[in-house]
Amino acid sequence: MQIDSIYQMKIVRTKYLPPFRNYTAINLFGVFFVHPDVAVTKRLINHESIHTAQMRELLYVPFYILYLVEWFIRLFLRGDAYFNLSFEREAYKNESNHDYLKQRKHYAWIKYIRKKKGTKKSKHRKKLRRYFNKKY
Ligand SMILES: [Zn+2]
Repeated sequence: MQIDSIYQMKIVRTKYLPPFRNYTAINLFGVFFVHPDVAVTKRLINHESIHTAQMRELLYVPFYILYLVEWFIRLFLRGDAYFNLSFEREAYKNESNHDYLKQRKHYAWIKYIRKKKGTKKSKHRKKLRRYFNKKY
């Protein structure tokens, strides 16, 4: 196990966390655990730092609860549950912007709960409405 402390994030390289092969990295309370063979890029660190900011403003434990609740709900919705999570959307959308965390407003992930900002209804919702209007 090797501990790097470049960037603001503590990175721990270990094959034991996450314990599954198909997951290569996990951010636990701001400490980034990553399998030894995974390339840790600046973009990945920025992505994880965005999650750390989300965790901090939610006081850590509620972040994980909300993450799991939203993920569970999204399993029943259209699209990929993981990529549609508000926390992930914020992180993926801004991971290439290395100044993002300097400009970011608290609770910025909230605006990612809805699919498109400014659009009243998603295409899917419109389709559903059309369907139900026909039937009833
Ligand atoms: Zn993520």
